[in-house]
Amino acid sequence: MSLILIASERFAEHMTPPGHPESPERADVMDAVAAEWRARGGEVVAPRVASREQLARVHAPEHLRRMGETAGVSVALDPDTYTSPETYEVALLSAGAAVDAVERVMAGTHARALVLSRPPGHHAEHDRAMGFCFFNNVAVAAAHARALGAGRVAIVDYDVHHGNGTQHIFENDPSVLYVSTHQFPFYPGTGAATEIGYSAGAGRTVNVPLELGATDQDYRLVFEQVVLPVMRQFQPDIVLVSAGFDAHERDPLGQMRVTTPGFTAMTAALRQLAEEQCQGRLVAITEGGYDLEALRECCEEVLAVLGSERAPDVRWPESPVASSRGRMAATQAKAALTQYWQF
Ligand SMILES: [Zn+2]
Repeated sequence: MSLILIASERFAEHMTPPGHPESPERADVMDAVAAEWRARGGEVVAPRVASREQLARVHAPEHLRRMGETAGVSVALDPDTYTSPETYEVALLSAGAAVDAVERVMAGTHARALVLSRPPGHHAEHDRAMGFCFFNNVAVAAAHARALGAGRVAIVDYDVHHGNGTQHIFENDPSVLYVSTHQFPFYPGTGAATEIGYSAGAGRTVNVPLELGATDQDYRLVFEQVVLPVMRQFQPDIVLVSAGFDAHERDPLGQMRVTTPGFTAMTAALRQLAEEQCQGRLVAITEGGYDLEALRECCEEVLAVLGSERAPDVRWPESPVASSRGRMAATQAKAALTQYWQF
């Protein structure tokens, strides 16, 4: 089978306060998805912890030191971001899972990898934890792919929140393309279309800010008009996906109207693009997604899309209401990036 799944029941050991959306039950859901895949003959491996060297490619020594000091204790690092005694170790495993996935795909032992992990990563900045995130898993993975010889790495982030940490880590780096679709304005406040990267990285940050209420067809439009055309021109050597499912219509934090088949279509479109551009090399890493049933459905769907022998057709669901949110977001993104990409 050309997909490797990386999962661990230890991801449930990072505890958050009662009622916190980023709950250990999310890990139980992901673990159940992994167990079912294994029972059907799928390949599942447990992660190793990320090394200091791997983390230091994207994080400041000061941040690594402060995180090390949280081992064994419960502290609040920001108003939403809490450690429990196990958090440090589990966060190292979550980043290590992303590294492991990239290693296998770059080595060619597997075409694709899916990492079902928590805590998530895309809000973690170079020098601090933020927004439920401790280490920036997808950024650590991208830097690892570069270290293994990938000349160009594309990160697509369809989590409902903007991945401020990922953007900031790579915004002056021409070798990493960061493309984000997200609710805007919304937490964490970044992600305007005019944020396009700077110096050598100008044009390689692509923000598609969608007004709340965006539907599957809005996402289809921005994928077809912005996300996929930019990625085709960039010609990545590997595609990384920040696979957050909190744009789901049932999510308690996001206010979008994406359905489970909408996530299926987005993921299938990215798989198809990876097959056109980079021999199928694709690593998907979970981020947010706070309705447990929607999380389960989306993890199963992503697994089905990435685990099938042949790339499935991309089938965007019809949306019950007409919306101009996709068109407005695409217009803004294209206007900001017109000197860098052809649309
Ligand atoms: Zn999110």
